[in-house]
Amino acid sequence: MVKYLWDDHLAPAPSDPLAECVYGSRLIGSDPAMVLHGGGNTSVKAPFFDITGEEVDTLWVKGSGWDLAGIEKEGFAPLPIRRLRRLLDVDSLSDLEMMRELSAARLDPAAPQPSVESLLHALIPHRAILHSHADAIVTLTNLADGADRIREVLGEGVLIVPYVMPGFDLARVVRDMWTSGGDGSTGMVLMNHGLFTYGETTRQAYRSHLKLISQAHRWLEAHAPLPAAAPSPLGRVDPVELARIRTEISRAAGRPLISVRHASAEVARFVGRADLPSVATRGPLTPEHVIRTKRIPLVGRDVAEYAAQYERYYQRNLHRARGETTMLDPAPRVVVDPEIGMLAVGATASDSQIASDIYHHTMPVLSRAEDHLGGYAALPEGDLFEVEYWDLEQVKLRRGGAYPELAGMAALVTGAASGIGRACAEELLKRGAAVTGLDLSPGVVDVFDSSGWLGVPCDVTHPAAQAEAVEKAVERFGGIDIVVVCAGIFGGVSPIAELDASEWRSVMAVNVDAAADLLSRVHPFLRLSPAGGRVAVVSTRNVPAPGPGAAAYSSSKAALTQLARVAALEWASDGIRVNIVNPDAVFDTGIWNEELLANRAAHYGIDVEAYKRRNLLGTPVTSAQVAEVVAELVSDRFAATTGAQIPIDGGNERVV
Ligand code: ZN
Repeated sequence: MVKYLWDDHLAPAPSDPLAECVYGSRLIGSDPAMVLHGGGNTSVKAPFFDITGEEVDTLWVKGSGWDLAGIEKEGFAPLPIRRLRRLLDVDSLSDLEMMRELSAARLDPAAPQPSVESLLHALIPHRAILHSHADAIVTLTNLADGADRIREVLGEGVLIVPYVMPGFDLARVVRDMWTSGGDGSTGMVLMNHGLFTYGETTRQAYRSHLKLISQAHRWLEAHAPLPAAAPSPLGRVDPVELARIRTEISRAAGRPLISVRHASAEVARFVGRADLPSVATRGPLTPEHVIRTKRIPLVGRDVAEYAAQYERYYQRNLHRARGETTMLDPAPRVVVDPEIGMLAVGATASDSQIASDIYHHTMPVLSRAEDHLGGYAALPEGDLFEVEYWDLEQVKLRRGGAYPELAGMAALVTGAASGIGRACAEELLKRGAAVTGLDLSPGVVDVFDSSGWLGVPCDVTHPAAQAEAVEKAVERFGGIDIVVVCAGIFGGVSPIAELDASEWRSVMAVNVDAAADLLSRVHPFLRLSPAGGRVAVVSTRNVPAPGPGAAAYSSSKAALTQLARVAALEWASDGIRVNIVNPDAVFDTGIWNEELLANRAAHYGIDVEAYKRRNLLGTPVTSAQVAEVVAELVSDRFAATTGAQIPIDGGNERVV
């Protein structure tokens, strides 16, 4: 469906052209069938008044790093049109020279780096320009007879520009085409790339944009109906097999990667095609997807063969690289397999999400082109290689900055809805890990709003529920590298002489039995971890220095500590580290309430404030501090430490 969303009541008046452009940009940017993740760009020509009051003819063009969906006025870079048109007159301009010139030409140095397509926007005489990579348009341009189809479907009023890589050369080709008859056109289709439309106002450009996409869409519906989704999603796959594949992919990449399984009915239909190996390897919708998805997915599970093929592709096309280059990692970013469905792979959960979004748009295009339109014909691999190894694309990825230290790692935290568990989950997310959080509280689902977060309500004392949660974690992130055992209860305070047997058992069930069950269950995944498995067990100061009245709690945590020490012994040869933290006096957690605090303070004959600081350093201890120590313990800094017990208690004379 193509929806016309322009609302004259909401749209800013054309008297504020930049505001109108922001409005139109957001409309096309928020439709994933037109623009995905930073794709597309827009501009408007409107005056800029410099500090002397002089008016400068200015192109306001989308800056890098802004998504059209949420763009603001500050997302546009003002550039003097005269200067840009002069640049088009030089004989040649390398990518980096062009970007330097565009950067230097900004009338406001605080504006973002202008789009690589700025020169193209500058040469088109119309004031408002919109550019998208609409699925319906790229479907037509990626057919063997794409140019003829475009002409047939969109009519004579559209310029058809053969594929040229974006940048100076493309702008020159388009300039030459405009000189010989661009004036009457309402739009321009760039083969294997996308659509430009223009007008005196953004509203006009938007109308043309929607009109052309609707024409393409209607034609496709009539001539190449989409296949119906499969009758049902794909079934269960052994989670250890999912983890094994992710580990092989991570090894090929030289770093841990997140791998998310997609098994919807829509995916099932695509991977169920008899011609999957051929249809899935035709190439991307637009060249710029290559940096997110690689040129082709892995069909099946032979990661080593994929990596070997990637290396041959690199060697074959090396002569097309612009400037010096080294091979990118040869690991796939998309895997399609008839039983698994699709795996979307990325350095972080959000990178995996981008690969998934792109491939969800790719599958139906490939299917309809193959089934009805004579087959999909992406660009030759040399052209795609040129974009994959294009400095400017690599710069785009690098601009995201170095990945955080735990990027690509998948963690599982129990007791994650509150207290120390929640703080640990937050700290691991902050350091780049993807985190599955288990908790008895249903609220765990919404504790964090992040593509790297999966909250699973789960009673860890029920083995079947815990098994299901572990399986969900592996489906969502590809494996488990880090486990933080945090779920725990304190139980009632009573002397042993008055022990309540059922209370004793319930404390043991949560603090020991569930932890033993979990460790046993996650071992196969920790052993497969491409980074080496890491476990942090949250125990308590009560283990080395018990207090009266908390027999069940102290005993259960002592058993937990011993369990962790045995795990450290048994699992060292699997490369798995297991360490223990012994916090004390962490009063911002669910275990502590006013009554318990008052009770414990009274027991020692001091007031609550004094009780909170009852340690050698006289310092209160917080969940966040415990979480930082846990995150350090599971980081590479403690690569040589296992079986350790770290006090986080402000110092205790009975422990020191
Ligand atoms: Zn583009």
